[in-house]
Amino acid sequence: MHSCPPLLVVLPPARLRLRTKTIFLPSTHSCPPQTVSRVLNITLPEHVLMAKMLARRVCADCGKGYNVANIKEGDLDMPPLLPKPSDCDRCHGKPRLVIRDDDKAEVVEERMKIYRSQTAPLIDYYSAQGKLQDFAVKKGLDDTPRLMRELGIPPAEGEGAAKKAA
Ligand SMILES: [Zn+2]
Repeated sequence: MHSCPPLLVVLPPARLRLRTKTIFLPSTHSCPPQTVSRVLNITLPEHVLMAKMLARRVCADCGKGYNVANIKEGDLDMPPLLPKPSDCDRCHGKPRLVIRDDDKAEVVEERMKIYRSQTAPLIDYYSAQGKLQDFAVKKGLDDTPRLMRELGIPPAEGEGAAKKAA
């Protein structure tokens, strides 16, 4: 049995990739709802979320993730995450960017459907209890330090911290 976290993070269907680890809670988590004391709801307008998810690419050789969307809208500023033209950040080969099967439009739509039906109701549930706090994504990965502060997680020292959850 795992212990229940005091904090539940409600994420949009695209997993939020943090620098050293991915936090992803399935919509049907097994903790009794009353044990959660605080809920952080990561928000991003749905059309922006869709644009970002459909723009995900990976290096065909090593799987390193990139994103070709360039979002500039109001106070949202999410430049594309691209490799150098001749040099993948990870394998240093000439990057050939491809779309993963689970980033194709129909799969993304399905994930959105599951989010709306299973995860979104949690927002109303915890909001009614006064436990919900929104965290608006503005810059993507560059929001990570601000998010970590909200989560009370100290800044990571290198990659070692990433393995802790395993
Ligand atoms: Zn690569």
